[in-house]
Amino acid sequence: MNTWSKKLSSRRLVTSGAILLVLYLAIILTVTNLGQARLKESQERELSLKVQSYASVLEMFFSANDENITNISNGRSMQAFFANLASGMSMEYGLGASLIKLEKELNKLISDKKINKKPIYERLLLTNYEGNIIVDTGNQTPFSLNLTKFHKMDGDSICIYPSLREDGIQINLVKPVQFSGKTVGYLIAKLNEKVIIEQLTSQEYEDSRSRVDLSTSIGPVFIWDTISTDKHQTTEDELNRNLFFDVKIENTPFHLKSWFVPLAEKDFFTSRWFIVGLSFLAIPVILGLLYVFMINSVNLVLRTKVEESSRQQQILFTKNSRLIEEIEKRKISEQKLAYQASHDALTGLANRKFGNERLEQEIESASKNNSNMLVIFIDLDNFKQINDTLGHLVGDEVLVQSTQRLLSIASPKDTLSRFGGDEFLLIVPNLKDSVTGKKIAENILTLFEQSFVSNKQEFFISTSIGMAIYPQDGSNAQQLLANADTAMYKVKEDGRNAFHFYNAEMNMDVQRTLNLDSRLRQAISHEELELYYQPIINLRTQKIIGAEALMRWNDAQYGFVAPDEFIKLAERNGLIHQLGEFAVHEACVQAAKWQQYLPLQMSVNFSSVQFRYYEKLLSQIKSALKVSGLPPGRLDIEITESLLFDHSDGVLTLLDTLQEMGAQLTIDDFGTGYSALSYLQKFPFDRLKIDRSFLSNLQTNEGDRELVNAIIAMAKALNLKIVAEGIEDQWLVDYLTTMQCEFGQGFFYSKPVSAEDFEQLLKNQY
Ligand code: C2E
Ligand code: CA
Ligand code: CA
Repeated sequence: MNTWSKKLSSRRLVTSGAILLVLYLAIILTVTNLGQARLKESQERELSLKVQSYASVLEMFFSANDENITNISNGRSMQAFFANLASGMSMEYGLGASLIKLEKELNKLISDKKINKKPIYERLLLTNYEGNIIVDTGNQTPFSLNLTKFHKMDGDSICIYPSLREDGIQINLVKPVQFSGKTVGYLIAKLNEKVIIEQLTSQEYEDSRSRVDLSTSIGPVFIWDTISTDKHQTTEDELNRNLFFDVKIENTPFHLKSWFVPLAEKDFFTSRWFIVGLSFLAIPVILGLLYVFMINSVNLVLRTKVEESSRQQQILFTKNSRLIEEIEKRKISEQKLAYQASHDALTGLANRKFGNERLEQEIESASKNNSNMLVIFIDLDNFKQINDTLGHLVGDEVLVQSTQRLLSIASPKDTLSRFGGDEFLLIVPNLKDSVTGKKIAENILTLFEQSFVSNKQEFFISTSIGMAIYPQDGSNAQQLLANADTAMYKVKEDGRNAFHFYNAEMNMDVQRTLNLDSRLRQAISHEELELYYQPIINLRTQKIIGAEALMRWNDAQYGFVAPDEFIKLAERNGLIHQLGEFAVHEACVQAAKWQQYLPLQMSVNFSSVQFRYYEKLLSQIKSALKVSGLPPGRLDIEITESLLFDHSDGVLTLLDTLQEMGAQLTIDDFGTGYSALSYLQKFPFDRLKIDRSFLSNLQTNEGDRELVNAIIAMAKALNLKIVAEGIEDQWLVDYLTTMQCEFGQGFFYSKPVSAEDFEQLLKNQY
């Protein structure tokens, strides 16, 4: 609807229409009122004139009668009669004759003076001064009149005198008759009232509703009354509501009183022309108003409809919004469910299932775009240990923090998912080249150089990263994942904290690992494993003071298998416990045997995995000592830093027990892992073995030198003896000696050798 029609339909228009109509009617009313007032005025004027003319008609009538009567009274007959009377003439003589003449004259007057054939005078009477009737034209009815009140009358004047009659009022004319300057009698004329009335009724009056009275001193003579009807006699009150005129009739004692029904309002409104005119004028207004009302009612209907529909819309809207809310809620919960189904609750990352789906999608788009894609397997090193030793809460914290670190380097298009307990999968689409992949992997390794802090403890966790590239390393998700996993395993085998791209050879490694697993079991049961011994030298005296037992496995198929390889394998498949038992027994037996040469100390390597069953381990050690008869003080237990995480009372108790038994405790490979001073203080170590990786470049690398110096200083501060391993030349011997490092071992003195050869060494020394 446009604004104009809106305005048109508005209530305002109806209101203004109504106001206009009211104004219009008001104007009409004012005009008609004015007109009416004018009309009334003119009516009044007209009526007043009319009444006045009536009055003058009567005045003329009366004066004419006066004249008639005066003429008679002054006439010869009258004078002759009274002259005769005065002269005392008798009736029989002249008086009678003059009386008859007078009588005749009076009768003649009655018969002559007629109006519309009606005699003006009903009766003429002549009395003497005392009132005795002399002549009476109508003797049927008696007449009595007290004439004394006329005695004082001027002889020239005539008196119009009303008197009461049975049927109303009689109007009389009384004229004193004068003779010789004296009133001698009275001529009385009784006027015919019908004639008087006719004087006026002959005037036009029937149109108007009116009443006219001739008012006399003794009452009114009704002339006419068209106000009263036969049915209804007008009351005084009603009469007074009419227009009233009171006009004196000159030269008479009478007034003419008249009442006219005024031109009532209804006369105007019921006037045909007025109604027609008014209706005619009202037509456009009524039509206009009708139109407006029609529009308005249409609008009203419309508005009602609009209101109704907007109400329904409102209801619908509320319903809709509730529905939307419900749908939204459901969507949210569905999304939540979907999210929960596809995401890991702890880290908020995509879970394995969803990660797989994402991988499939990325493969699809990579194949479409002909692009490369990188699949990165990231495994936290030693996470299991952290979980086992520091508790799950710390483990969770590590996972969350690791996630945050990984996300910090992932680009928006990458997908990071948690693939397993401590395994993450990073999918990098649109890989430019392997150099980019390498950079990413290096970045990840750098991320984990920073320590983790949880539960007020600080520790380091490294990662092992395996990578596979689509399409070269696999055309489907399964292959890519398997190969990235293989590459990651390779890193684990190589000592963790590094990355590897997948290559075909790795599969062979996997095969080898699988084979080695079964062959190692066989080797154990066939007792094909043996111990080699590397002498440990007192650097001051340059004499052998101990030996480190190092396991050797010469497999019929694979030949010499390095202990780094098979020990790790054994740690994974649980064979380590059997290997460990063999090692400690064998070493103790040998050491006990070699005690004859010197109070040799036997160092045996223990994997931290073995400490998981510390009671079993303690009984193994006890049994070895017992069976071999080696004094516990001659057994040196080498453990790596990774064990130090374990704050479980069991491990600490075990170490304490071992020390109480008199066994030596050495921390092996110091500096490679989780070196923290607090651990060293906590555990009852006797010796510290500096990892050979620090010593190999000592001569050339100043950084390593400083580090070694620091380690030595620290060990001294903690009252620990130092063993340097991997001594391969004299320079190192000299350096370590000056640094007051107590013990050393290395190829410079001897490679690990068989028990037989070692015994020879011992023999040679003495
Ligand atoms: P480790 O405990 O650090 O043992 C010392 C390693 O250094 C030995 O390697 C030894 O041959 C090597 N080595 C000694 N002097 C030199 C040197 O001057 N130059 C060089 N390049 N290497 C030197 P090996 O025998 O291959 O053993 C490797 C690792 O296997 C050991 O490292 C130890 O962690 C583990 N291992 C060996 N035997 C056992 C065992 O019976 N039980 C356990 N749990 N681990 C064992
Ligand atoms: Ca060792
Ligand atoms: Ca070592």
